[in-house]
Amino acid sequence: MTENETLFREVNERVDDTATHFGANEKSTQEYFCECANPDCTFRIPLTHAQYTSIRADPTQFVVLPLHFTPEVETLVTKDEDYWLVRKTGEAGDYAEKLDPRSRKH
Ligand SMILES: [Zn+2]
Repeated sequence: MTENETLFREVNERVDDTATHFGANEKSTQEYFCECANPDCTFRIPLTHAQYTSIRADPTQFVVLPLHFTPEVETLVTKDEDYWLVRKTGEAGDYAEKLDPRSRKH
């Protein structure tokens, strides 16, 4: 299930790159993919580039829609009105950290 989430994270990185490329301003939102543990979930979450960047600052942190939370593999970090932040725990967290697209760029 973590493979799915890291895959969506890769896709979201591209959404974010495209947004930055086209000069998205602070207030404009992009449709990022929900990064929950359900491989069939294709819901989108509107986020600004700044919101997305702060979520991505922690490689074990994922953005999901409210209630798209799997307590077996993650802990709840914060609940926002439009999205929740979850953190991978145990092996799933290590795996997520290893595959972090941002750490590869440095
Ligand atoms: Zn979802």
